[in-house]
Amino acid sequence: MKELFDLTGRTALVTGAGRGLGAAIAVGLAGAGADVALVTNRTPAEETKRRIEALGRRAIVITADLSDRTALPGVIEKTISAFGRIDILVNNAGIIRRTPAAEHSYADWQEVLDVNLNSVFVLSQLAGRAMIEQGSGKIINIASMLSFQGGINVPGYTASKHAVAGLTKALANEWAPKNVQVNAIAPGYMSTDNTEALRNDPVRSRQILERIPAGRWGTDQDLVGPAIMLASRASDYMSGHVLCVDGGWMVR
Ligand code: NAD
Repeated sequence: MKELFDLTGRTALVTGAGRGLGAAIAVGLAGAGADVALVTNRTPAEETKRRIEALGRRAIVITADLSDRTALPGVIEKTISAFGRIDILVNNAGIIRRTPAAEHSYADWQEVLDVNLNSVFVLSQLAGRAMIEQGSGKIINIASMLSFQGGINVPGYTASKHAVAGLTKALANEWAPKNVQVNAIAPGYMSTDNTEALRNDPVRSRQILERIPAGRWGTDQDLVGPAIMLASRASDYMSGHVLCVDGGWMVR
């Protein structure tokens, strides 16, 4: 049974791995046996690296701005040159800009789409080519409840996360025959820096909590098991699935 979830000898690339959900997923994959390349821009990722090395696994930090398309090939090249291959890509990095749609600036819209969607396509394409060539691979995109719902004051974010779900299915369709499984995790409302503004708003915070059947916000640790599952042999017959990890939010 343990072998189903074992990632020993696998190499993973996790974007936005300096903090929040990405850091927890990176350390979780290492706990299951993987070596991990940690992509970050401004957030330091040295602590994530230290935690992975404490587990006896290798980690490298790659500093790159994912909104800069020209930086993306280097991210994949550095991972393959450090570890020899790439078995798992976790497209986790994401940003959110909260302004009502009528006032939402085009610059905010563009930046959100560049980080949350365009980098996901380009990194998946580059990693996907290597995975197809080696005959196996796992891509995990981090989607959102706003891959299904409209949200409030976050039109760019919602558009990007709907598109991430669509892209997940498009890539899954093409690459399942090549033994590359592409799936997504849609986290519910998780307690990270990304949702700090919501938790600080007493009205929104109460409304959200009341709707979560589990009766609590999620934590970064809630994503670790699902991520290991989607990165391991356990999910070899899963393709194009968007897995909600939301304390029941979507079924309310
Ligand atoms: P976070 O803000 O704590 O972390 C995001 C990470 O992405 C940071 O480490 C940041 O350095 C990195 N990043 C942002 N822009 C970047 C860029 N241009 N280049 C390189 N790295 C960049 O966010 P989080 O809550 O951990 O969210 C992680 C993912 O989960 C995001 O895609 C987010 O949309 C998604 N998500 C979060 C929640 C939640 O409740 N927290 C819910 C649903 C989905």
